[in-house]
Amino acid sequence: MSTTYRLGVLEGDGIGPEIVPASVEITTAAATAAGVAIDWVTLPLGADAIASHGTPTPGETTRALAGLDGWFLGPHDSVAYPEPHRSALNPSGTLRKHFALFANIRPAKSFPGAEAVCRNADLVIVRENTEGFYADRNTYAGTGEFSPVEGVAIAMGIITREATERVARVAFDLARSRRKKLTIVHKANVLKLTTGLFRSVCQEVAREYPDVAVDDFHIDAMTVHLVRRAQDFDVIVTENMFGDILSDLAGEISGSLGTAPSINASADTAMAQAAHGSAPDIAGRDVANPVAMILSGAMLFEWLAARHEDPALAAVARGIEKGVADVIAAGTSTRDLGGSASTTEFTAAVVEAVRPGR
Ligand code: ATP
Ligand code: MG
Repeated sequence: MSTTYRLGVLEGDGIGPEIVPASVEITTAAATAAGVAIDWVTLPLGADAIASHGTPTPGETTRALAGLDGWFLGPHDSVAYPEPHRSALNPSGTLRKHFALFANIRPAKSFPGAEAVCRNADLVIVRENTEGFYADRNTYAGTGEFSPVEGVAIAMGIITREATERVARVAFDLARSRRKKLTIVHKANVLKLTTGLFRSVCQEVAREYPDVAVDDFHIDAMTVHLVRRAQDFDVIVTENMFGDILSDLAGEISGSLGTAPSINASADTAMAQAAHGSAPDIAGRDVANPVAMILSGAMLFEWLAARHEDPALAAVARGIEKGVADVIAAGTSTRDLGGSASTTEFTAAVVEAVRPGR
């Protein structure tokens, strides 16, 4: 008997109510084709939740998510929230923290037929999501950033063996399932203790993966290598801030923001989230590119397939990816990719492409 997977749907703000339902519709079609049953659970998040529950991330939502296999998270426009919500931790930050989603996995892959600086990139950045210099995410340092006296501000960075080891294992496992190459990115010549520890712990973990070829670069040198030869890289593992910056760079040189997916994962659960924001400038006009959200959904199924050792789940991911690639290669895309299809038209074309029997 096959299992029914239960997944949360959190539409969020801006273009979220356009791209999240598009992703759900395509995933449902791909799951039907692969014989996988999904139970979708819609939950409040963002501006609508402030109106209905007095908070952008209601306790009702986090409690319900704890019982699910994973979820699709739409973008949020937290700068438009009224205070105190605007200054508080935003919805995705709250969920990352609440569920300890320590690995942010961000692929950068060019599409055949789409414009890109690098037309044959196929790499994945694994970004440590809980430490480093990002104050709001520091587990130990609390606020992480402070001003001891007017005119002086201090940020603390933290790297631990424990957090580095767990993210390194995610990265090495991923490399093993791909082209078996892993690049450690750090700044161990300057941030000797912190990023030096990150590098040495990754190198220790590397001994458990003798089949994976490992190299390492300083973050500044890495930007040069990415722009010059992104196609040579497979999996890149790095700390929080370097990963944030590097993944925007990698996403842009391999295509556009509208196609860059991601998941945030712990050992137990995963959240699919497009790398872009809520795009309030184009919200409600049926022009947003749903590809980043759609492919984030495919990544979630890839992750579920590994966790549940269920090949039918990997077939769902494969079906979604192939549907998107085929539709774009056949000349249908939204205007950010140079096409003229609306969100609705593009989504309908992908649903048609992944339908059972095709
Ligand atoms: P955030 O802080 O929430 O990440 P941001 O300032 O990075 O927001 P985005 O919301 O990501 O901004 O939008 C940046 C630009 O990219 C905007 O012009 C937006 O319209 C465009 N954009 C973002 N996502 C998409 C998409 N899916 N389809 C088309 N255009 C998009
Ligand atoms: Mg942004």
